Amino acid sequence: MSRRTIVAGNWKMNKTVVETRRLLIELSNKLVGMTTRAHVLVFPTAVSLETAVDAARGTPIAVGAQNVHWEDSGAFTGEVSVPMLEAVGVTHVLIGHSERRSLFGETDEEVRRKLLRVLGSDLTPVVCLGETLEQREVGETEDVVTRQLDIGLGGVGVERAGRIVLAYEPIWAIGTGKTASPEMANDVHRLIRRRLDGMFGSVAAEIPVLYGGSVKPDNAAALMSESDVDGALVGGASLDAASFAKIVGSAP
Ligand code: PEP
Repeated sequence: MSRRTIVAGNWKMNKTVVETRRLLIELSNKLVGMTTRAHVLVFPTAVSLETAVDAARGTPIAVGAQNVHWEDSGAFTGEVSVPMLEAVGVTHVLIGHSERRSLFGETDEEVRRKLLRVLGSDLTPVVCLGETLEQREVGETEDVVTRQLDIGLGGVGVERAGRIVLAYEPIWAIGTGKTASPEMANDVHRLIRRRLDGMFGSVAAEIPVLYGGSVKPDNAAALMSESDVDGALVGGASLDAASFAKIVGSAP
């Protein structure tokens, strides 16, 4: 089965509301007339989502949130819920980004709770996973990724699994300028796909697995041309419309 290629930009804690609108307009101008099979997606900060949704209307760009809580409302200071995101009009949400895991202590169990709540809505979850440098060096990549899938996607069920998007992001490659070689990335994507096959059978073939970690205009084409890499999740290089558009343009 051929999965749609997705090129997504994680804007992290960057850009004010005004800058968000400007970047979206610049990006959509660069995408006009571009022939690409890629589905383009951006994740601005929570305070800019409404503006981003408005600026992206009528363009091929979809907008997602960077995080979500599993409860719908209540005493969870600083958090944002699924109904709030739906009301703003976003279509996607990142879950379990490595910065959420490492800086804010998010666990695989919390990833699972968030994912289950998101799958109870019309939002598309983009679930991130990946190993640290230390884990890779001691040969634990497969164990780590397998555990993240088993716990994080636990209880999803075959009926809903096809709605998930995954992003494999080796933590040592995020924001460091170090990229996994296309072969290294594809090796892990292949083992993720094998595990998904075991969990969800034929539905697994519908789940796109993106690569993330210092994707830039000059390495994007090689990474995305690997057989098991279905697109890219881009951090730093998505903050510049020209470089992000080049990455979109290099999607196979
Ligand atoms: C990310 O934050 O998801 C990411 C991959 O960042 P960068 O491209 O900057 O490494």
